[in-house]
Amino acid sequence: MIRLDKETIQLISITNEATVKDAVIALDKGALGIALIIDAVDRSFMGVITDGDIRRGLLKGMTLEDRVIDLPRPDSKYASIDDLPESITKQLSPKVRALPLLDKDRRVVDIAFYDKRVRIPVSEPSLGDKELEYVTDCILSNWVSSAGKYVEKFELDFAEFCGSQHAIAVSNGTAGLHLALLALGIGPGDEVIVPALTFIATANVVRYAGATPVFVDSTIDTWTMDYEQLESKISPRTRAIIPVHLYGHPANMEPILDIASQHGLFVVEDAAEAHGAEYQGKPVGTFGDVGCFSFYGNKIITTGEGGMVTTNDSSIASTLKRLRDHGMDPGRRYWHTVLGYNYRLTNLQAALGVAQLERVEGILQWKNEVDRIYRDSLSELSNKLTFQREAPWAKSAHWLFTILLKPEANSLSRDELIAALESQGIETRPVFVPLHQQPIYSTGERLPIAEFVSENGLSLPSSASLNHDEISRVVGAITAILND
Ligand SMILES: *Cc1c(COP(=O)(O)O)cnc(C)c1O
Repeated sequence: MIRLDKETIQLISITNEATVKDAVIALDKGALGIALIIDAVDRSFMGVITDGDIRRGLLKGMTLEDRVIDLPRPDSKYASIDDLPESITKQLSPKVRALPLLDKDRRVVDIAFYDKRVRIPVSEPSLGDKELEYVTDCILSNWVSSAGKYVEKFELDFAEFCGSQHAIAVSNGTAGLHLALLALGIGPGDEVIVPALTFIATANVVRYAGATPVFVDSTIDTWTMDYEQLESKISPRTRAIIPVHLYGHPANMEPILDIASQHGLFVVEDAAEAHGAEYQGKPVGTFGDVGCFSFYGNKIITTGEGGMVTTNDSSIASTLKRLRDHGMDPGRRYWHTVLGYNYRLTNLQAALGVAQLERVEGILQWKNEVDRIYRDSLSELSNKLTFQREAPWAKSAHWLFTILLKPEANSLSRDELIAALESQGIETRPVFVPLHQQPIYSTGERLPIAEFVSENGLSLPSSASLNHDEISRVVGAITAILND
């Protein structure tokens, strides 16, 4: 926590002799959502003024010239700067979003804000000095669009990171999956097998290509595609399989690849959530014909929006490059022999990506540690919840730490737990709704494991910036709520 500086406190402070108008000015200047009323003589704290207090006062007939001290307002809460951090945090809530902290002379020395101190997001970007430096370099050098040195560097660095021969940067992960299917020649009349338990984009891209997604259930341990059910989904029209490395955990690639090769099917890995995950000791993204990664803001590393397609096949790589750039012939400008798209990544985004890749090992290491701490400290609740299991052949990238409530052992539903945590400022998110139950795909079939995990699973805060105290708060809150 960085303390508010004296100037800022000064800026939002008005005395008990000030007018409502002075309060409006102070609120506007500070842009913190509050102003402070202090004693004109000894500068001690007298109360907090919010926009809402002023609005209510004006509606009651007060004017901007009236004294601020006469505004009707609730008793202001405050705490001592010497209070324990946990006790300060406890007093913050969606209703008390700002808490002045006073010294022994009752002067305001800091303000604790709910949004900064209490709210723990599920997954937020972790950006540092290098990101700022490289993005600044793009601006200073005027290279902000999709040409520029960072795009090429990002592609080379990423190829090295996952041991692929080629990496092609694209505008987002969905665009990458779409191009992968097109580059493999998948189109109308074809079927592509995807797991039901994934983000909607995995199936949407099949539709974009004019083909039909066919859904397969997951296994109960890793929640990834169940290869034992694959054969029953293969028809004469099947052309490809898209295994998804869900929440960072690799799909069981070896049997999937075996089945694919027996039936002459392509394999596209959806590794949008799994940068740095390993299957049998080798990074994901290089097992299938093509691998696709996402750099959306909540993913393991981010470029704001962005994606990368990996492959060891140079002919697929050159098709991908052509398709992402309007299908332009590489040997002749403005000559188009195929229908292409504008799916390019910008130099600005790639600059972020290069900086993020420099830190990815540290991010992955900490995420691995977060996973371990959650597992250890939630183990006492094993009668009430389980986790996504890490298979012996897998090294998960631990994108989101996700728990599964045992419905028979809890009086609370998953959604009730999400709401209870939210009221304490802890953001969680439900597992995806399976694709076969989505209004746009609803097939009427039953895929029990995907449905079960979807109904009872939730992801806990898992950002690279999460600290030990925050993990303890999350664990403490879940333990208290489930044992209540
Ligand atoms: C995020 C995600 C995508 C899409 O990536 P975008 O960059 O957001 O387009 C695709 N598949 C899965 C499994 C994802 O989690």
